[in-house]
Amino acid sequence: MSKKKVVRNGHRPAAAVSWGHSGGGWIEAVVGSMFSGKTQELIRRLRLAQIARQKVQVFNSALDVRYAKDHIVSHDLNKTPSIAVSKSREILTRIDSDTQVVGIDEVQFFDAEIVEVCEKLAGEGRRVIVAGLDQDFRGEPFPVTSRLMGVAEFVTKNLAICMVCGNPANRSQRLSSGRKVVEVGAADKYEARCRRCFKR
Ligand SMILES: [Zn+2]
Repeated sequence: MSKKKVVRNGHRPAAAVSWGHSGGGWIEAVVGSMFSGKTQELIRRLRLAQIARQKVQVFNSALDVRYAKDHIVSHDLNKTPSIAVSKSREILTRIDSDTQVVGIDEVQFFDAEIVEVCEKLAGEGRRVIVAGLDQDFRGEPFPVTSRLMGVAEFVTKNLAICMVCGNPANRSQRLSSGRKVVEVGAADKYEARCRRCFKR
């Protein structure tokens, strides 16, 4: 009888994350307006990695307090456990050495150092998936998201549907009059709008 590796409970260790060549590591950016399904897409990718028994860790900003601090949640209330950090650097201290896939939600809430942090994680051979808004409520690109789109291997731009005319929408219309660029909120404060229906 040939010698086989002992497989306990039917579990094998997860295969290394690789794309094209072994020991890979890369960045995927999932961007778009509000209500474009970014977090849903992030959660979907993380679930597939978990099914493949890859070790996944998820981070979100402590600024994002819409639902719970220990979960990321999409608008359809699909949720995944996450670690809330107040500074980008903190991710490097909270990451486990055997984590293969790193998810970061609402990346526009993070400080500028998040770009360096993502590049470091990818450089270590990890798959890094970031999701976030590409434009603020004025229609201006978020610098952090723009820079991540620039360095990412894969960029997915999601579109929502304009809540006024039904065309593809890539802007988030703020309905309240707050002045802060980062205002945490969801359905009651924002609407997805197309270029034509968006008002500055
Ligand atoms: Zn429209």
